[in-house]
Amino acid sequence: MTDDTVTRHIVHLLKERSISITDARVRITAIIYTADKWISLADILHTVNNEFDRATVYRVLCLLHENGFLYKLVDMGKISYYMFNKTGNVEQVAQKERPLEHTWFKCLNCGRISVLPGDDIAVHLPEGFTKTASNLLISGYCNNCASARN
Ligand SMILES: [Zn+2]
Repeated sequence: MTDDTVTRHIVHLLKERSISITDARVRITAIIYTADKWISLADILHTVNNEFDRATVYRVLCLLHENGFLYKLVDMGKISYYMFNKTGNVEQVAQKERPLEHTWFKCLNCGRISVLPGDDIAVHLPEGFTKTASNLLISGYCNNCASARN
């Protein structure tokens, strides 16, 4: 997709969800959309190159996440990562927060973040506790890096 096509597509997606179009919303969405991988808040800020301040970027990320456009995950260093939801199931993602039910794996060597197969790891909560979401991240070395280390 060319930049123009991406922009048009994003404007269309936002309008579909009745989100008003602003320059910041379209630009920030385009950055995550074209990244096509997990991207951190710092990476996004770096890419917008001070065109928008941190608070603006953060507000746009929250809006996109609430509307199911983004998957979000927080690693052990409390760094947030975002990835565009290209499944088209924004409604479902917004309502059910299904991505949060996944278990993630972050490679300490190459930084790649993968979603692990299987829906959820069974965590047995003490009596009286209710789970509303889980966001589990395992760190270590991925298949590529583990073989290189041996
Ligand atoms: Zn790796």
